Amino acid sequence: MGHHGDCIFCGIVSGALPCFKVCEDDRTLAFMDLFPVAEGHTLIIPKRHATDLFGMDSETLSAVSATSLRVAAAIRATLAPDGLGVFQLNGAAAGQTVFHYHMHLLPRNEGVPFALHSRVRGDDDALRRTAERLAGALP
Ligand SMILES: [Zn+2]
Repeated sequence: MGHHGDCIFCGIVSGALPCFKVCEDDRTLAFMDLFPVAEGHTLIIPKRHATDLFGMDSETLSAVSATSLRVAAAIRATLAPDGLGVFQLNGAAAGQTVFHYHMHLLPRNEGVPFALHSRVRGDDDALRRTAERLAGALP
C-alpha cells in the first residue's frame, strides 16, 4: 500500500499504529480523529499514500467520496448534528497538518465556534464508543 516513511496515516493503514476505525474498503479507511473538534469527527483517507489532492487520481477521489456518503449517513443517524462540514485541506498554507490526503467529516451544531483542529486529545473510550456507533449505523 506504499508506506511512506514517517507518515502516521500510512502507519494506521498498515496496522502499525492503532485507530478507532469506522469502516474500510479496498481503497479507503475511515476512522475517528484523535483530536476531535466535535463528537463524531471522522477522517477518511485513501489507503495508498497521496500527500494531498494533487497526488490523487479521480478513481481514488471517488472512492473517498463514496465512503464519505456512508459515514455522513451514519453520523446523521446516530448523532443528528445540526449540520455536517466536509473539509479537505491541501498544503500547510491551507491548514493541512498531516501530509497524507484526508477528508474531515465534522458534525456542526448551532452556537459552537468553528474549528477544524483541536489540541486536546479525545478520550479513548469515548472515541471507541463513537466509532462503534457509527460503524453500526452505516448504510
Ligand atoms: Zn501516508
